[in-house]
Amino acid sequence: MLGAIEAGGTKFVCAVSDNDLKNIKKLSIPTTTPEETFEKVFEFFDGYALDAIGIGSFGPIDVNKESKTYGYITTTPKAGWGHTDFIGQMKERYDVPMSWTTDVNAAAYGELKQGAAAGKQSCLYLTVGTGIGGGAVVNGEVLEGFGHPEMGHILVRLHEKDNYEGNCPYHNNCLEGLAAGPAIEKRYNQKAQYLDKDSKAWDIEAYYLAQALVSYTLTLSPETIILGGGVMKQNQLFPLIRDHFTRLLNNYVSTPDLNDYIVSPKLKDDAGITGCLLLARKELTS
Ligand code: ADP
Ligand code: ZN
Repeated sequence: MLGAIEAGGTKFVCAVSDNDLKNIKKLSIPTTTPEETFEKVFEFFDGYALDAIGIGSFGPIDVNKESKTYGYITTTPKAGWGHTDFIGQMKERYDVPMSWTTDVNAAAYGELKQGAAAGKQSCLYLTVGTGIGGGAVVNGEVLEGFGHPEMGHILVRLHEKDNYEGNCPYHNNCLEGLAAGPAIEKRYNQKAQYLDKDSKAWDIEAYYLAQALVSYTLTLSPETIILGGGVMKQNQLFPLIRDHFTRLLNNYVSTPDLNDYIVSPKLKDDAGITGCLLLARKELTS
């Protein structure tokens, strides 16, 4: 039996399934204190005989197997969660193989195996929500280096009509500081979901996201880019992003047809948890 946790700052989604990902049972747990949250996680998994567990977590997290703090959530600003030994606690309770990566790497893996990038060897998954985070799969493996990618914090050019200074505590006007949901809300004094579909907000938003996608395209050349998260529920963003992308890239390289290249998650809100289950299964075969 496979176990999976998509650990988010707002909720933990836990799931179990059989090895072909049938009969999925899920439970959503609000992310409160680590103690309380793990207690509920254990309560859920204790009822099953697990063979492997796949975890995709909010971060930053330590994914370096050589590190003393491998398996920790490290410097997260989320109160109470800094320096939490996630894998240590899980291993103490369940002595089974575990896979450990970011929530967005897991979502990219889910979309590659069973979603919008099925049949491909590479894809990139970007979530645009409370923050912006990106994960990627390259040659069928999630992309990690000394740590994990932090694609939301790349630097972008300011839109000429934008006088919002940005709100990233580290960089002010990085991509996340200018284009995550809270930045839209601060720029317009209104939550992103309540802005008109034809507001000029979306063109500015698309300009920033398109710049990021051009950078990812030029550095990673993924076969598909999947854009998820709350802000991307605004479907009118997709054609705007493709237009800016075309203009900015200026035919320097040819890409797949943009309607197939810059897309929504096919697994919708299940991309992350599906990826976690698949990564758990991979632990059993690799
Ligand atoms: P999280 O990032 O916390 O997992 P979400 O992906 O839902 O959760 O992101 C929340 C952010 O997305 C908020 O800033 C919210 O204003 C924005 N958001 C949520 N739903 C929508 C929507 N339908 N349209 C535009 N923005 C949205
Ligand atoms: Zn930043």
